[in-house]
Amino acid sequence: MGSVQIVTTVLAAAITAVAVWLAVRAVLKMVAVIRLGQPAPERFADKGTRAKTMLVETAGHTRMLRWGVVGAAHWFVMVGFIVLSLLVLEAYFEVVSPTGGLPLIGGLAVYGLVTEVIAVLGTVGILVLIAIRVRNRPTRPGGRSRFTGSTMWQGYFVEAVVLAVLVMGFVIRGFKVATDHFEYPLWATPVSHALGALLPAWPAGVSVAALIKIVISMTWLIVIALNVTMGVAWHRFLAFFNIFFKREPARPAGSGLGPLRPMTSNGKPLDFEEADPEKDQFGVAQVEQFTWKGLLDFSTCTECGRCQSQCPAWNTGKPLSPKLLVLSLRDHAYAKAPYLLAGGGKDLTGEEKATAAQLAHLDVLTLAEADKPLIGDAEAGGVIDPDVLWSCTTCGACVEQCPVDIEHVDHIVDMRRYQVLIESSFPSEAGVMLRNLENKGNPWGAPQNTREDWTKGLGFEVPRVGEVDDFEYLFWVGCAGAFEDRAKKTTRAVATLLNEAGVSFAILGEGETCSGDPARRIGNEFVFQMLAQQNVETLNEAFEGREQAKRKIVATCPHCFNTLGNEYGQLGGEFEVVHHTQLLAHLVSTGRLTPVQPVDGGVTYHDPCYLGRHNRVFAAPREVLGSAINGGGRADTDLIEMPRNSERSFCCGAGGARMWMEEKIGKRINVDRVEEAMSTGARTVAVGCPFCSTMLNDGVNGKGAGEQVEVVDVASVLLRSVRPDTAPGQQETAPTAG
Ligand code: SF4
Ligand code: SF4
Repeated sequence: MGSVQIVTTVLAAAITAVAVWLAVRAVLKMVAVIRLGQPAPERFADKGTRAKTMLVETAGHTRMLRWGVVGAAHWFVMVGFIVLSLLVLEAYFEVVSPTGGLPLIGGLAVYGLVTEVIAVLGTVGILVLIAIRVRNRPTRPGGRSRFTGSTMWQGYFVEAVVLAVLVMGFVIRGFKVATDHFEYPLWATPVSHALGALLPAWPAGVSVAALIKIVISMTWLIVIALNVTMGVAWHRFLAFFNIFFKREPARPAGSGLGPLRPMTSNGKPLDFEEADPEKDQFGVAQVEQFTWKGLLDFSTCTECGRCQSQCPAWNTGKPLSPKLLVLSLRDHAYAKAPYLLAGGGKDLTGEEKATAAQLAHLDVLTLAEADKPLIGDAEAGGVIDPDVLWSCTTCGACVEQCPVDIEHVDHIVDMRRYQVLIESSFPSEAGVMLRNLENKGNPWGAPQNTREDWTKGLGFEVPRVGEVDDFEYLFWVGCAGAFEDRAKKTTRAVATLLNEAGVSFAILGEGETCSGDPARRIGNEFVFQMLAQQNVETLNEAFEGREQAKRKIVATCPHCFNTLGNEYGQLGGEFEVVHHTQLLAHLVSTGRLTPVQPVDGGVTYHDPCYLGRHNRVFAAPREVLGSAINGGGRADTDLIEMPRNSERSFCCGAGGARMWMEEKIGKRINVDRVEEAMSTGARTVAVGCPFCSTMLNDGVNGKGAGEQVEVVDVASVLLRSVRPDTAPGQQETAPTAG
């Protein structure tokens, strides 16, 4: 070993020792913080599916690749990081000896080839990512950036380190080529050979370059160890765990959406008949009341801003950004952690658990952080502003886009649950809706005995469950479908089409109450459970004696469709629920309904969040519309898609009980969506949800465009094509006089 190698070896060993010590300390700290969360035993179930999903999502980059160029570039960088860690290891042999290399695989041509190819693609990938970050920097003139609010130096630092490590790998190899110590052939390592032709034959060059590579890598480790909230770096390790422990690992295409999590206390679903607010946790009032998976979520955020770029609230000027919400919770959790780890915290009656002696060593900033209310405005010094919390439509665009499966909607609803159930603090205008749900069983407060009014004048009998036993589908009408004028047209259109196709169906009539969706999304789990339990009982009775496959329900409202199909199972109600567009698509494809009249003027389709993103029903409504638009083959016209469609559809603004709250901040979400729909030039905007219908109709009318554009349900579009002989609207309209 020469004098240069003695120096490089000592320096490499010293910086590595410091970096590893700091990294171990950081990992222990992170684990301690995550362990402060509440239990979530269900996250350990079905480990096989979890492992498979994690491998598919990471190796296949299923989320990232939805954004083509970024996804591909990130994939190469990820693979480069894993494989080229071997090259960092190799550098430790090279600081000792310029001819050093990895034992066993070092020297194999295939190893030289694989690492060379990955290093080249990784270098291209990281340059692309740097260019994208620079092009989308928040400070660029004009436009909104997905990186607004992200810690930009951390992103640039991580990317610069990756680039420098990759470049140094080529430099080391180049010096080996120049000094004739390179064991790989030209065909396997052409870039290294080309660089070697340019470098001087400096024997110490290999060890010096290897030291530089180690110093860069260990500096990275030291920086991230000193910044445990640096998700842009830590996600390289945490993302595997976060995806493994995701809420619904078996859901199709990796979607994390569908049912909301039940309210839990100490890891167990809360039973309201026995729950005690002084002993049981009602929602989340302190950051440590999130589950450990919640705290892992916050730690894993890469600050990429994909969620922010899709959020309807953020895009219309509301204070809510799902990314900034996660970052606020993360920063608060880590700043409060020393207090919690010292034994601090409030019990469920609000009393401090720690003694003064236990907290004596904490600094004033930590104690101030611990004192912050989780929800509170700027004056109260809250971590999350109430306007942020109540701006969410629970549309799920954030969860859908997040590459590391962070579960924003669950966290938002958990915080709402505490605000509603314990603090009674929520936008006052929603109080009327909640009172109506409790007293009348529907959000509008309509008399229960008017639930069947929509059936009048249809020209055929709509049977009730109990009057007929052999019905195939129970037609779940929903509150909007029974009481709201526009939605009643959809209900009548669906009933008419089912009757036309010879489908036997029956309704619950006055036996139906609200599914409970608005109560659950606003955070009132008590009212949700009250309504849901009643409905589950009614439905179980209606289907008594039937096997699971014959407990079939068709619903026109995606919120009912989601709640009945995905959430009633939590309360003992297992049913086969379809959306009316799915049933209509089946009836058209099997020839039981035949569209004959093409639709004029162009049609576009707005994907309802709870049908599309939450349940992945994208194709059925498009199939129905496609057949209606073409009138059974008499025309050759396509559905006109809006720029934001399917998985990336833009919310109408009504979800998450926002339908019953005023929209006081920023641009109205429904107006934004209507402008997009109108930009397609289509005369008909088809919807598959009564709330979307209301919101988009209001948006069209607000723009004074009622004459040019019609917002109408998919079922009505089909009915007009199937029954063109009937005057427009006649078959969909209930008589006004009883
Ligand atoms: S659910 Fe929708 S509105 Fe709520 S934070 Fe996510 S993207 Fe924004
Ligand atoms: S998409 Fe996920 S990782 Fe990216 S900023 Fe949003 S929460 Fe963080």
